[in-house]
Amino acid sequence: MTGHSVQERLRQIPSVENLLQLTTIQEALTRHPRRLTLASIRHVLEEKRKLLIEDPESAQVVNLEPAHLVQLVLENLKKAEAHTLQYVINATGVIVHTNLGRSLIAEEASARLQLLCRHYNNLEYDLAEGKRGSRYIHAESILCELTGAEAALVVNNNAAAVLLTLSTLAKAREVIVSRGQLVEIGGSFRIPDVMRSSGAILREVGCTNRTHLRDYEAVINEQTALLLRVHTSNYRIVGFTAEVSAEELVALGRKQGIPVMEDLGSGSFVDMARFGLHGEPTVAEVMQTGVDVVTFSGDKLLGGPQAGIILGRKEIVAECRKNPLTRALRVDKMTLAVLEATLRLYRDERQALEKVPTLRMIAMPLAIIEERAQHLAALIREADLQNRLQVQVQRSSSQVGGGALPNQDLPTYAVAVSSPGMSTHRIEASLRNNKPPIIGRIESDQYLMDVRTLQAEEFRVIQQAFRSLLKGPTPDEY
Ligand SMILES: *Cc1c(COP(=O)(O)O)cnc(C)c1O
Repeated sequence: MTGHSVQERLRQIPSVENLLQLTTIQEALTRHPRRLTLASIRHVLEEKRKLLIEDPESAQVVNLEPAHLVQLVLENLKKAEAHTLQYVINATGVIVHTNLGRSLIAEEASARLQLLCRHYNNLEYDLAEGKRGSRYIHAESILCELTGAEAALVVNNNAAAVLLTLSTLAKAREVIVSRGQLVEIGGSFRIPDVMRSSGAILREVGCTNRTHLRDYEAVINEQTALLLRVHTSNYRIVGFTAEVSAEELVALGRKQGIPVMEDLGSGSFVDMARFGLHGEPTVAEVMQTGVDVVTFSGDKLLGGPQAGIILGRKEIVAECRKNPLTRALRVDKMTLAVLEATLRLYRDERQALEKVPTLRMIAMPLAIIEERAQHLAALIREADLQNRLQVQVQRSSSQVGGGALPNQDLPTYAVAVSSPGMSTHRIEASLRNNKPPIIGRIESDQYLMDVRTLQAEEFRVIQQAFRSLLKGPTPDEY
C-alpha cells in the first residue's frame, strides 16, 4: 500500500469527539467515570493509528468501523476498572504459594479482622489505665504462652525481623554464619545482602557442605556480636555434610558471652513429622535449645497473616523495640487482629489442625483427597456434553511451598484433563482467564488440578469454567 493511501486511512480514524457522540458511549458514560472512558477511547484510537503506521501493507484490512471501535473501548474500560488484586482458585497443590498470597486465613481470624476494621479498637490505648498504650503488647503474651519465649515483637515480615534484629544486635560489628547457610529466599532476600543493609559485617565460616564448631571458635574476636544460624528452608545439602547444632552453638555463645540467633524461616507451631514431613523443628523446640533470639514468618507454616515474629530474651526484644527502624517496620491493626486470632486457635492443637487452612490442607487424609478428586472429575465429565475431554484422577504430589520443607512431597490425587481437539495450553489459558482465575499446572501434556488446595465451593466454579471453555470455538487457536 502506498504512503498516500495510509494517510487516507489515518484520516478515516474517527476523532475522540466523534466516538463520544455515539449513543453506546453516551450510555457507557452513565456507568463509567468520564476520565477513564476518555482514556480508553484515546488508547483504542492510538492502537489503530500505530497499526496503520507500523504495517502499511495491511492498512486496508484494519477495522475502523465505529461499532468495532466502540466494542474495543468497552472492553478496554472493563479491563481498566477491574481490581488488580483478585480472588484466584489455587489448583496447583502448593499450599503456601508465595505467588498466590501464601497462607489462607482461618475463618475465625477473618471474622475478627472484619470486626476490628469496622470499629475503633485499643491498638495503642491502655484500657486499664485509660491512657496511651503500646501496639506491641497485642500478640506478645500469646506468642510467649505458646512458645515458652520470654518476649516477642511482631514486625512486617520475616525479612524485616531479620533486618531489625541484626541492626539492633550487630550494627558495625561481626556476625558469624556458616557458608552452608547463606540462603537466598525468593524475591531477592539474601542473607549476605540483608546483613549489609543492617550494617552488620558478615563473617563466613566453614565450607558449603561442612561447618564445625571449631570454625566458629577460630574467628571469634572482640568485634563478634552474634552467632547466626539460618534454617536452610528451601534447599538441602546432602551427602558428606556437617552443621553445628543449635545446642552446640548456644554452649559456645554462653562461654564467650555472645548471643545466638536463629532465623527459622517458617516457624511451625506443630510437629510436622506426623505428616511425613521432616527437618522442620517447632518454634518451642528451638526456644528450648536456649537460643537467645528466633525469627520466623507469620504466613508460612503458621498459617497466619504476613508478619515477622521475633522471639527471645527480654533484654534483646526490648532493644529491638527501641531501634528507630521498628517504627518503619511496624505492623498495622489488621495484621495484629489476624495474627492474634490465628494464634488463639493454637491453644488447642486439634482445633488448629482443623481450623487453620494451611494445617488443614497439610493434614488432609489421602482418602478424602481421592474422594474429592473423583467428585471434581465427575463434575467436569458432566460439563463435557460432547465427550471432547479426557478426564482422569491420578496420583500426584503436593508441596508445602513458601520455601518450607523442600524436596518433601505430600502424596495427593489430581484431576488430569486433556483433549484430542484442544491443546493443553489452551485449556490452561482459558481457565486462567476465568473469573475467578483458576491456576493449575501442565505436566506431561495434561492439565492437572490438585484438589488438596481447592475449597468445596470452588468445585462448581471449575465445572462452570469447563462449560465455558467447551462452548468456545472448536478449532485450536493456539
Ligand atoms: C521465608 C524466609 C525468610 C523471609 O521471610 P518473609 O516472611 O518472606 O519476609 C527469611 N529467612 C528464611 C530462612 C526464610 O525461609
